[in-house]
This record gives sequence, C-alpha cells and structure tokens, in this order.
Amino acid sequence: MSRIESKLPGVGTTIFTVMSRLAEETGAINLSQGFPDYQPPQRLLDLVTKHLNLRHNQYPPMMGIAPLRHAIAEKVGALYELSVDPETEVTVTSGATEAVFCAVHAVVRAGDEVIVLDPAYDCYDPAITLAGARTIHVPLMAPQFTIDWTRLQQALGPRTRMIVINSPHNPTGTLLERADLDRIAALIADRDCYVLSDEVYEHIVFDGQPHASVTTHPRLRDRSFAVFSFGKTYHATGWKIGYCVAPADMTAEFRRVHQFNTFTTVTPMQHALAEFMTAVPEHHLGLAAFYQEKRDFFVEAMRASRFELLPSRGTFFQLADYSAISDEPDDAFSRWLTETHKVAVIPISVFYETPPDTRIVRFCFAKENATLAEAAQRLASL
Ligand code: PMP
Ligand code: GLN
Repeated sequence: MSRIESKLPGVGTTIFTVMSRLAEETGAINLSQGFPDYQPPQRLLDLVTKHLNLRHNQYPPMMGIAPLRHAIAEKVGALYELSVDPETEVTVTSGATEAVFCAVHAVVRAGDEVIVLDPAYDCYDPAITLAGARTIHVPLMAPQFTIDWTRLQQALGPRTRMIVINSPHNPTGTLLERADLDRIAALIADRDCYVLSDEVYEHIVFDGQPHASVTTHPRLRDRSFAVFSFGKTYHATGWKIGYCVAPADMTAEFRRVHQFNTFTTVTPMQHALAEFMTAVPEHHLGLAAFYQEKRDFFVEAMRASRFELLPSRGTFFQLADYSAISDEPDDAFSRWLTETHKVAVIPISVFYETPPDTRIVRFCFAKENATLAEAAQRLASL
C-alpha cells in the first residue's frame, strides 16, 4: 500500500512504454510507439556536433534562443501567412508534451472543465487533472472519427475553459478541415474558452490535402495555443523539442508556467535546429510525399492479410480493424500479436474514457520499407 493518495489514480505506465518494452522482450517488430527507425538528416546531426564543440552547452534563454524563435516565426509566417512576433508569441519547449502541459496550466483553473475528443492522445487528460480541472470526453464518431457536433455542443458549459483538438489526428489519421474550425469558432464565440491545438503532424498530410492550422483561422488564432514538435518533422523524437505559438498575452502566461516547469530546453539542439531551418527551409516540404509513400507501401503490403485498413489521411499511423481475425479485445489482441506473431501494435481503447466495442489497433508506418514488408508478411499468415 502506498502512503500517497495519488493525484492521478487512473494512470499507469503509458501504453507506448508498455508495448515498446514488450516488443523488445519478445523480439517483435515494433510498429507500436510512434518513432522512425531511420535517422535525422546527416547535416542536422553534424550541426549538433558542431554546436556541442562550439561550447553551446550552458543555459539558453528561458523562452528559447533568439535565432530559433526567429526561424520558427519565419516558417509559420511563410506556411500559414501569419505574422508572428518571435519575442512575444513563440516559446521553445521540451517537446510538444511540455507545451501541452504549460498551455493547460496557463489558463485552466481548479473547477474548470476541458473538452477532449476521444480517442485522445494520452498526455492531455493528466495535465488537465493536475490543474484541478475536469476532463469532459466527447467521443468522435466511428468509423470516420468525425466530430459529433451535437455532443460537443452539449458538453460546453459555463465552466468550459478549453477545447483540445488534434489534427492530423493521433491515433486515427483523420484531419480537421477548415469548416470544422469554423464550427468550433462559432461554438465558443461568446465564451471565455481557449483552444489547445496539437499540430505536431502538421507536415504529414496526404493526398494533396491542406493542413488546417488554427494559426490561419482569424477567429481562433486569438484564443489558441498551437503546439508543434521538431521530433516528428526531423525524425528525432528522442530530442524532445517543440514549440508553442500563441498571442502575446497567452504566451506571457504560458511562459510563467514554462519557466518553473523545465525553465528551458537543451541548448546545442536549439542552435543546430535554428541553423538547419535557415539553411534548409524546404526540408518539411518533402515530408508529406515521404510518408504518403510509406503509407501506400504498407497498405499494399497488408492487402495479403485479413486486417481491414481504415483511411489514413495524415500522421504516420494506420488503424486496422481485425474483427475478421479475432474477437479478443484490443489490449489482449495486441499482446497476443506481439508475443505470438512478433509484430507490436497499439490498442486504441487506451485513448478512450469509455472504449467503444470495436476491434481496432494502430500501426506506426514510420519505418524502413523492409521493416514494413517483413511485418506485413508476418501478419498475412493470420
Ligand atoms: N501530441 C501528439 C498527437 C503526439 O503524437 C505526440 C508524440 N508523439 C506528442 C503530442 C508529443 O510530442 P513530443 O514528443 O514532442 O513531446
Ligand atoms: N506520440 C507517440 C505515439 O503516439 C508516443 C510518444 C510517447 O511515447 N510518449 O506513439
């Protein structure tokens, strides 16, 4: 028995850690936790080495080094046609995870309510709970995982302080469209309510679709924290660097939390990223095609299996319905698949407050094609 009455009693070790560990123990191909099995660009790695040797190894400014904030402001300006002040509207964080935590704690008070759309990425709810607020889970409508507007409207109340959105969406690979942002803007127009927009997969959008960023939305940008991650964009998930773009008054509150949370973020990587972004500003332009090719390769390879693949319009994730193979719940199925057939996946029920009665797992296709082909071959025998 612990002496501590937990503040997060429902929280165990994250599914990503559990499944990656199981993959390692069983020697399975790990298509569970979302990370590439290839490296960041060599030039970026060389820049990290350069800046380590240039002795950029002490504390950087709390909000991130100026060259990186300027490079971010330039990128956001070019991509989303938004003029962003790097001094007052951009903060470098230790991953998008830290940015989510700071954004929630910047504006959410004890007794408030925050709406998340299930299946929801796992770091939102704990941040909200630790702020003393209540998470209101509104399920997306399967199988398309679109917003149930009636339920969303019903969930809004006098205490709603924030809505968390995520597009491209982990785990479903769906996208919010401009019209969705319009509807969200209309719903909260007369409320004291903020938006936390998790856009870490902003560049991984397929089939020529645009990414609908809150930063481009005239009625949402003034009340949104937009959160991004260099981990996804530069194949460097272990670096844990991200950033938040928000209006100056919101950024000021955000930084109050950030400076006593991590204070700042690893120095040499900031210098390397700033220099790389300036030297190779087009890097992100190739990402959609790069991942679309992987998605298509994986989908093609999986045709030989009895998994039914759901559409993936963005991210590096692919949902698959396994009801033709098994009736087991998704956690048991994922474990069995990993232990017996040596392919690790993520059960999607963990992203729900009330899991639906579906048979769906998530594959990560941010892998070399040879890895994907080998995994698909193993799955074809089921
Ligand atoms: N949001 C989503 C939807 C994610 O998939 C992830 C990470 N994988 C994060 C946030 C966290 O990003 P980071 O690793 O930069 O903290
Ligand atoms: N975002 C990654 C995923 O969805 C996992 C990150 C983590 O392990 N916390 O797989």
